Amino acid sequence: VKTKDSVYEVFLGENILQSFCERRAADFKKYDQLVIITDEHVWRLHEDYVRTNFNLSFKLYIVPNGEACKTFESYFQVQTFLLEENCSRNSALIALGGGAVGDLTGFVAATFMRGIPFYQIPTTILAHDSAVGGKTAINHPNGKNMIGAFYQPTEVLYDFHFLKTLPEAEVRSGLAEVIKHAIISDASWMDEFIALPNLKAINNKELLLWLEKGIRVKARIVELDEKEQSYRKFLNFGHTYGHAIEASVGYGKITHGEAVMIGMIPALMLSELHGNVEEGYAKKVYDLAKRLGYNFEHVLQCSFESLSKFMQKDKKTTNGELHFALLQEIGNPFVQIISVKEIKRCDEQLRQWVK
Ligand code: NAD
Ligand code: ZN
Repeated sequence: VKTKDSVYEVFLGENILQSFCERRAADFKKYDQLVIITDEHVWRLHEDYVRTNFNLSFKLYIVPNGEACKTFESYFQVQTFLLEENCSRNSALIALGGGAVGDLTGFVAATFMRGIPFYQIPTTILAHDSAVGGKTAINHPNGKNMIGAFYQPTEVLYDFHFLKTLPEAEVRSGLAEVIKHAIISDASWMDEFIALPNLKAINNKELLLWLEKGIRVKARIVELDEKEQSYRKFLNFGHTYGHAIEASVGYGKITHGEAVMIGMIPALMLSELHGNVEEGYAKKVYDLAKRLGYNFEHVLQCSFESLSKFMQKDKKTTNGELHFALLQEIGNPFVQIISVKEIKRCDEQLRQWVK
């Protein structure tokens, strides 16, 4: 991945943690401290694997699972730990976990001593997305990811070994972002998804190839537009309505990916209207999502008024105008201003389908 100020590699494969240590041994020896930040859940499941394969000395800091680690309190506690352990500008961090651990660790790395190197070791499918691209953040009670920085990692090591312990809900959550990468980049790749009868039909080999493809899509877009001035907005496909669903249902009560999957349906309806996406495609993807087990009942839990309020608050909203990433055709995104009235019509259509 090449950005204006940095170049880094993304390594993918099964059981590659050990080779990471060998390859990076000289760099790691230069750091006065190397600190792995992970969450309770990941550490409980993977401590043995890490201790066996990561044969260099490191300090360990364990944060709470999920969004709970993206709080000011948690951020402050990690900084305190680093200071108490005499970490310096010559120290480095490793984020071992899903997107939440990655976002927190990245933001700590961006700000500790005005910036120290950090490595991403993503352990969820969703983190194929979040670990690449350098968006780091913590949450504020007034909004998710409101405090953050663009700060690129030194390397991303995606060891598929970790994915074996993911529960089905997390597989579904991550898969939504993979489908998003397909839908904004490649119609024939999207056809592979449309052909799926259910979640179980996805084999491991296929999934790993899709993850690699997804990372390539993300990397190419980040290279063109690191700071989200233009092309990077395409990655928000499904996220305007999706974030509103996530916020309305309540963080932790729905996964990010499930909300994004739901959000992609109105975005596809709008793409049929404003782009040249074939009529009925939104319904086709809706049916696919149902076959894969995404729960659309969440929509009925939220009033449109609540969704509309959150859409207006979105970071991507300017002057009350909703900026939607849409598709000209499958694989060809663009950004369009959409009125609240128009999104309300899509919302009504979606509710009809769910009922
Ligand atoms: P997460 O880190 O909260 O992980 C989800 C759950 O899975 C947690 O309970 C975690 O403990 C558990 N888990 C992690 N790895 C596991 C494994 N190998 N086996 C079993 N359980 C495991 O979240 P996520 O879904 O990976 O990511 C969501 C977060 O990512 C959100 O905070 C979102 O804002 C952020 N995000 C960031 C970007 C970005 O560009 N920076 C992009 C998308 C999402
Ligand atoms: Zn997302």
